[in-house]
Amino acid sequence: MEKNNVCINCFDMLNNIGGSLNLNETEVDVLTKPRRSFTFSFPVIMDDGKTKIFTGYRIQFNNARGPTKGGTRFHPKVNLEEIKTLAFLMTLKCAVTNLPFGGAKGGVVCDPKKISKGELERVSRAYVRELYRFIGPETDIPAPDVNTNPQIMAWMLDEYEKITGKHAHGFITGKPVELGGSQIRDISTSMGGYFVLREILKQMDIKSEGTKVVVQGFGNVGMNIAKILHEREYKVIAVSDSKFGIYNEDGLDIKKVIEHKNEAKALSSFQSAKEITNKEILEIECDVLILAALEDQITKENVDKVKTRMILELANRPITPEADVILAKRVIPVIPDILANAGGVVVSYLEWVQNSMNYYWTEEEVLKKLEEYMTTATGELEKTCKNYSCMMRDGLYISAINKILHVERLRGVLK
Ligand code: NAD
Repeated sequence: MEKNNVCINCFDMLNNIGGSLNLNETEVDVLTKPRRSFTFSFPVIMDDGKTKIFTGYRIQFNNARGPTKGGTRFHPKVNLEEIKTLAFLMTLKCAVTNLPFGGAKGGVVCDPKKISKGELERVSRAYVRELYRFIGPETDIPAPDVNTNPQIMAWMLDEYEKITGKHAHGFITGKPVELGGSQIRDISTSMGGYFVLREILKQMDIKSEGTKVVVQGFGNVGMNIAKILHEREYKVIAVSDSKFGIYNEDGLDIKKVIEHKNEAKALSSFQSAKEITNKEILEIECDVLILAALEDQITKENVDKVKTRMILELANRPITPEADVILAKRVIPVIPDILANAGGVVVSYLEWVQNSMNYYWTEEEVLKKLEEYMTTATGELEKTCKNYSCMMRDGLYISAINKILHVERLRGVLK
């Protein structure tokens, strides 16, 4: 097989779902080779007056189902293969949730913590100047990702509108509400994860009240999912951040935990809970373990110590492929990231729709639409898993790939 431009990780992921789809060589090529791949270097004047050259990437992986969509990350370790893999996963995520989008991802090799606010703004604007001919509301729509936020989206939008001379709020999502952003974007990933979990528990005939939950990671996603579940009478028994975990087998009062974390800037010393290590939190006996921190948290080294009935992946790729196989053997269901954390991209889509109408929905309206998208996708997953007798990760890949290939056939790309 011709290996030029192939995404190696994507190729491996397709191989892992084995022969279920019986893909031919052309289909594998279509699915593993990004349609457009940009690598570029651009100059930025730093605060000391010197010029620094930054490296940027944008991958538009597959646009069969619509304009490509995906975030932009600023991180010192950003590299082309990583961006290709993430763009592939975005393609699958949009297909799984039935959004009329393809997948993309972008990034800049930089450490935002080591540059000033002014330098960050100049990097963000320069990134858009390099790409503006190839991205836009009907072509490829960026969004926030690791180390990028609504302010950076606002600078990028402003640069794009200055260059093109037009208002084009749909150029980018994850913007501040005052600049065309959507209601509930900040809690969308956690809210989406909650809807998926609720539906899966229903499918498994498990009552949600009193369900014992452990949450690893207490940032935007982890804190919000803990709050949402606590408000709905799930029993959140442990949470952790990068330093510690806290545990109370009778349940934590998450509202108080959040107040404490905001005041003390740490979870430690929270009363009526015992401190535990980051290693121990993954080993607590519970009904649902929610991974909302980083990638590669459950590995072949610690997977045997996991004592949960199921796992919800809100972080991207928190379980290594080797550990995933062992969990499947132990019959511990994993609700995979490409569905569990897709609430963010669903609300991004809703933001783009509102921008194109120039008419804005209330919080309740956006929440209701998010619920519809997430429950429909979860229902479809149940059917695919039954049809193919497979675990959820394979079911999601199979369903997304079938949808993408179907559209490629309609377009005449595949015969
Ligand atoms: P964040 O930076 O706000 O929070 C991350 C949290 O993880 C922090 O509380 C940090 O202290 C904690 N953490 C780091 N290392 C840890 C460890 N070893 N053990 C326990 N906790 C640890 O990030 P976020 O926006 O909440 O994102 C979390 C994950 O979800 C990331 O993998 C991200 O890619 C993914 N995700 C986020 C969104 C979104 O909308 N924010 C969307 C999709 C996926």
